[in-house]
Amino acid sequence: MHWRLFGCVLVCCALLHTIVPSNAVAQTVDCHQHLYSPEAGKRSGLTDGINAEDLIRELDKAGIKRAVALSAAYSLSNPNKPTLVDEYAKVRAENDWTAAQVHAHSDRLTGFCSVNPLRPFALEEIDRCAKDPNLRTGLKLHFGNSDVDVDNPEDLAKLRKVFREANTHRMALIVHMHANVDHHRPYGAREALIFLREILPQAPDVTVQIAHLAGAGGYDDPGDDDALSVFIVALQQNDPRVRNLYFDVSGLAIPGTWEDKSALLAKRLRQIGPDRLLYGSDASVPGNRPAEALKRWHQLPLTQSEFRRIESHIPPYLGHPSDHEPSRE
Ligand SMILES: [Zn+2]
Repeated sequence: MHWRLFGCVLVCCALLHTIVPSNAVAQTVDCHQHLYSPEAGKRSGLTDGINAEDLIRELDKAGIKRAVALSAAYSLSNPNKPTLVDEYAKVRAENDWTAAQVHAHSDRLTGFCSVNPLRPFALEEIDRCAKDPNLRTGLKLHFGNSDVDVDNPEDLAKLRKVFREANTHRMALIVHMHANVDHHRPYGAREALIFLREILPQAPDVTVQIAHLAGAGGYDDPGDDDALSVFIVALQQNDPRVRNLYFDVSGLAIPGTWEDKSALLAKRLRQIGPDRLLYGSDASVPGNRPAEALKRWHQLPLTQSEFRRIESHIPPYLGHPSDHEPSRE
């Protein structure tokens, strides 16, 4: 591009940012959605999976223009389910399927690679995803599904390497950090402190988005609030380790889990502040279609302007809409 034209683009963009207040074009950004191939869907109890067309149809009903679409590849390495034959080939295939789905709808969807961080092929797969324009934005890790135990030094060492690798490739991280629920693994302040002290500093240059407000959906497990409080203290102290830390609110408003703690939940959300909170619907499954998730979220005791700020908050890894050119490579 000619430098004068380039200069004009810069000036015009700067002017646009000044003239158009960000809330004038505020649109909901869904920072936590999932895609499942038919095979991954079957393994996760979804008969046909969720492809990009299914997801976009549901996003349209909710008036949501953009979404982060997480690969379900990690779920193929769930250690609490039967091991798959040729597991790594299937993990690659799932990430590639997700990339192809996203590629066909890259004006609406941004793909995230995923992998079980404890598997021997984890680093290799992250490197591979980093070369794929439809997956290189980020990496999804699911500590619960992968049964990661941060209290176990071996697991911790592997996690630290995975975070370093993502940081090297400048891939953002979306982390379901709550430990496995079905097997009642320990989870609370201790695990959050390990995350803060040992894991987060391995990825100092990228956005780290903790899913479900550090919980596993709902807000009824005391461990959720204990873990979240560790990060709130760090934020209040301007701890440099949480400089790039964000929280998504996906799965929070599950009926029957938060109502008796609604004041505490609102307090926590305000302590974190809208600049650190991102909206997410979680998987578009029956009962949790994006329109339904949005409606439930609106039952929380926040003001309309707080809802709008959080819903329209664009995470750094998506950038300003004008900076985010859909990939057509
Ligand atoms: Zn999710």
